Amino acid sequence: MAHPAAGAPKTAMKMPKPPERPREQLLPTDDVLHSLPRKINVPLIDAHCHASFIRPTSLMLKAGSLFGVARWVAIVRAPHIDQLRRHFGDRLIFNVWLDYTHAEDPRRFARENIALVKSVAGKGARCIKFWYKPEFNHRSGFYFDDWRLDDVFRAINDQDISCLVHIADPDVWYKRVYNDPEKFEPKWATYRQLTNTLGRFPGLRIVVAHMGGDPERLDHLDRLLSTYPNCYLDTSATKWVVRELSPKPAEAREFFLKWSHRLLFGTDLVARKTEGLDHYASRYWVHQFLYEQTGEIVSPIPDSDAPGQVYVRGLDLPPNVLERIYYKNSEKFFRVKL
Ligand SMILES: [Zn+2]
Repeated sequence: MAHPAAGAPKTAMKMPKPPERPREQLLPTDDVLHSLPRKINVPLIDAHCHASFIRPTSLMLKAGSLFGVARWVAIVRAPHIDQLRRHFGDRLIFNVWLDYTHAEDPRRFARENIALVKSVAGKGARCIKFWYKPEFNHRSGFYFDDWRLDDVFRAINDQDISCLVHIADPDVWYKRVYNDPEKFEPKWATYRQLTNTLGRFPGLRIVVAHMGGDPERLDHLDRLLSTYPNCYLDTSATKWVVRELSPKPAEAREFFLKWSHRLLFGTDLVARKTEGLDHYASRYWVHQFLYEQTGEIVSPIPDSDAPGQVYVRGLDLPPNVLERIYYKNSEKFFRVKL
């Protein structure tokens, strides 16, 4: 049988569909400084970023403002809180590092860090940051289930503040960087330090950075969230999250719909003197495309961990899901009100 279009007259009124644009011809946006039309008009909370000096922090906030961000949960050192508060007011919500100076003296470590938790909570900090990735585990001998942290976790709980923990890195880093079994445990095994603490401190709210450090395995994250009601995930680390979620948009969308009450929008932007406005804005732009748009685009962010070109595939999340991820979950998790 002949193809139905084979004998169609050339002057047919109905225009044939244009051929699909080959993927290679998709281009990254050349304008990351402008937000795409927003699907919902709500303020956003960036649940994971890093503040530093005033000028780069101002630039980071300026970029976020272009995308509707109203609050930034900023990771800082305790001594920097006062100055940042004076300059930025309540636009910054502080997430503070512990002090490991006296890690070898457990009593002093606990005493000083309990005092730190109380003091920063008194200044309005809403979270304590733990950076427990393989290189830190190896260098410090500290894991997230270390008994030296028990009293610190109790103090955090008593203050009704929360924890952010970075547990694992991309799979490719385990192949390339953490490949010495004498120094580093495998990625699957390192989650023990997280689950032990989630289980032992069920009242402690813990958000696990970068899609729980395992956007490669949404089934693993699903088990984690199903098992531990006190576990939340942030969506920060734009390149990594996009690289892993975009190739499986249907699975990613289903995951976001199912866990919309436990996911916090975040970027992991770091305010650095060397970065321009474009750098900060590109992350917000890509996050917006990922959550709100349909279709795909070449990512405007270069990614040396990717095997080739990275495409951002829009998940087209519904408004009620966006609302939760963008600010409602963060309000609840950090006990803040916009
Ligand atoms: Zn971070």
